[in-house]
Amino acid sequence: MARYSGPVCRFCRREGAKLFLKGDRCLTDKCAFERKGYAPGQHGQKRGKVSEYGSQLREKQKVKRVYGMLERQFRLTFARSANERGVTSDIFFRNLELRLDSVVYRMGFARSRNEARQVVRHNHIHVNGKRCNIPSAKMSIGDEIALAPKDAKAGMFSLASELYAKRATLPWFQVDHTKSSGKVVSNPTRDDIHMPVKERLIVELYSK
Ligand code: SF4
Repeated sequence: MARYSGPVCRFCRREGAKLFLKGDRCLTDKCAFERKGYAPGQHGQKRGKVSEYGSQLREKQKVKRVYGMLERQFRLTFARSANERGVTSDIFFRNLELRLDSVVYRMGFARSRNEARQVVRHNHIHVNGKRCNIPSAKMSIGDEIALAPKDAKAGMFSLASELYAKRATLPWFQVDHTKSSGKVVSNPTRDDIHMPVKERLIVELYSK
């Protein structure tokens, strides 16, 4: 299945929550969810009763859309997390957060995860001194993520770092924007992720 390239604000409206998919626009009054906080489409304002399956599906779709993943990749990440020792939902969120595109976004080298994926795919990111252009590459404690030297001063990245300054800092990485680099110092916990999602419903959906 091809990657979705249509308007993403409809995802926020469909899920009934701000998913912050469009960088700085999400913080302005141009945000579509602020203006039209109901589901898109002809019947969007007439929401009926949601079944148990429906609520599980919505929680799963919400997280999948935040990380911009396709169903197959998302389900595979869950299956791998379920095979690791520990609480599945915590491990699942940790594995999602430690994807390279997500780390690049969290460190403020891109304004959104979508942009982060493009930045990675276009060879702008080095991991431990070597170019890495795989958005799903899993980062670990001690990994150093940096902009390619020639890109460090590009305008797009300074806009991203301005936006980063407005976000809450997270304890699992250190970043130095003057050197355009950052380092993963610990594993992200569920509390670090600040996402209002009932992960229990996703586990229930995928455990059927
Ligand atoms: Fe969602 Fe951002 Fe669009 Fe608002 S501007 S609806 S938060 S993607």
